[in-house]
Amino acid sequence: MTASTMVGEILASIKRKAEEMGCTEKELLREYIQQLNAGNRTRFAREPFSKRILLLPQCLREPDCSAPQTEEGYICQQCNPDCQVNRLSQEAKRLGYKGSYILPGGSMIARVIAATQPSAVIGISCEKEALLGILTLEDYGIVAIAVLLARDGCYNTAVDLEEALATLALTK
Ligand code: SF4
Repeated sequence: MTASTMVGEILASIKRKAEEMGCTEKELLREYIQQLNAGNRTRFAREPFSKRILLLPQCLREPDCSAPQTEEGYICQQCNPDCQVNRLSQEAKRLGYKGSYILPGGSMIARVIAATQPSAVIGISCEKEALLGILTLEDYGIVAIAVLLARDGCYNTAVDLEEALATLALTK
């Protein structure tokens, strides 16, 4: 079964459960991702920083971002010290991560993985992208952890920076 077929089945099952339980699909999906994260945490923490990459969504950039878009995604110009993309990319660099990528869309993940050959990935994303990302990377034999956006949407999103920084720095 492909990752996208699995995602479809999981989402359908979550939708049914949410109706039965009287809660939102988003709540259940967030819980499901946290369970996947918990299952991957130990393996992720064992991987050295030099074999990890950080994936950031383009929507996390500041509204007036001037980062040019290239074949490797957006290239941060470090114009704003408070920008969450900037803060996280700089921290990944300081820790010795193999790279940070600001993705224009999920379809670029395969290209980044092929180019960098990481053994672990941390992704900042919305719930559905996180689910697809974790399952797709599992197919490649790569352990992944998602830090879910605290404010999602396609523009001007936000993440819990402390949670993201702590996850980046996870070690065994
Ligand atoms: S710091 Fe980087 S990502 Fe953030 S707004 Fe500036 S160029 Fe864009």
